[in-house]
Amino acid sequence: RMPNYATAVSSKLPNTTTSIFAVMSKLCYEEKAINLAQGYPDFPSSPKLIELVNKAMKEGFNQYAPMPGIYALREAISNKIETLYGTQYDPETEITVTAGATQAIFTIITALIQKDDEVIIFAPAYDCYDPTIRLNGGKTVELELKAPGFKVDWEEVKASISEKTKMIIINTPHNPTGTIMSREDMLTLEKLVKDTKIMILSDEVYEHLVYDGLEHQSIARFPGLAERSFLVASFGKTFHNTGWKMGYCAGPSALMNEFRKVHQFNVFSVNHPIQKALATYLEEKEHYLSLAQFFQAKRDLFLDAIKGSKFSFNPSTGTYFQLLDYSSISGESDMELAKKWTRERKLASIPVSAFYIQGTDHKVLRFCFAKSDETLLKGAEILNAIE
Ligand code: PMP
Ligand code: GLN
Repeated sequence: RMPNYATAVSSKLPNTTTSIFAVMSKLCYEEKAINLAQGYPDFPSSPKLIELVNKAMKEGFNQYAPMPGIYALREAISNKIETLYGTQYDPETEITVTAGATQAIFTIITALIQKDDEVIIFAPAYDCYDPTIRLNGGKTVELELKAPGFKVDWEEVKASISEKTKMIIINTPHNPTGTIMSREDMLTLEKLVKDTKIMILSDEVYEHLVYDGLEHQSIARFPGLAERSFLVASFGKTFHNTGWKMGYCAGPSALMNEFRKVHQFNVFSVNHPIQKALATYLEEKEHYLSLAQFFQAKRDLFLDAIKGSKFSFNPSTGTYFQLLDYSSISGESDMELAKKWTRERKLASIPVSAFYIQGTDHKVLRFCFAKSDETLLKGAEILNAIE
């Protein structure tokens, strides 16, 4: 037996427990339930992309990639951003390939947040922001997005900005609410930070998943934001291979320089054959431009199938998540109910309270619709039977 050393450990994250995504996927597996919880597809990644990775491995691209990523991929990323959003990022100094968006976010915050710096986030917020800020001695200032529209209250943001505000983290399309920022939101933010030294971390991992003819408002569309922002993206979300853990980060060279100082000691560089494959795969725009239509059809299938249920909802306009309000069904906490329905109804979801620092419970569960039509219809059947 290992000696128990635990008493000597002084935790840097004393109140942090295992991520809700790990908890629910484990429970779901044990219970053989349908997994509409953790955000990942249950259908395969493109055979062509897998073939390209195999090819790169066979051709011998199996040693360390250059520290910031292979140039061909950084160039392809730069072209994609410029085509879609109109801003040019220099592949040499302004783009770094990362091991998923999570590593990019960790590296940005670690590189730039110092003791007592304040970072504004909007709750419900993706779960990695706050712990990463605190690990670096920063202070999280959590503002609430108000249901049902989950819009940012920009007056509240203005009132919350202090001398110590170093960064604002935005996330559009938004996990878990499925809402998106409007052009007006972005213009307001641009105006708000003008003449300040505030940086923006813009988490845009669902950039290609925007529905109903709406447009993704990347920070790269707004010069006054782009000049002070890190844009974070994830190939896992884009190309149905979350297990590959590949993403990237773009930002002005002064910021990227600081980013790379940490990145080189955090991972040094990331998966080489996958970078080779992605550089080729990105050449065809349809590979990412077709995603909105593909996922919108899944959203519509799912929502149409549950329209007779007792849940209330506003259709998601971005991401592959749908919130369902169960307050007319049960008064139980969302955490208890998500676990109970996984065990008893064999359907797993994510309790939205996990996206609040204090676990605020609005009686809402998050369902992932990046699933085969068959899985979605089975999930819908279970939801329809809940009274
Ligand atoms: N940000 C948001 C909003 C997410 O939903 C996720 C989850 N995929 C990430 C970041 C992390 O992405 P990755 O899997 O590429 O690390
Ligand atoms: N982003 C995914 C989600 O929101 C999960 C990623 C993870 O498990 N860390 O469900």
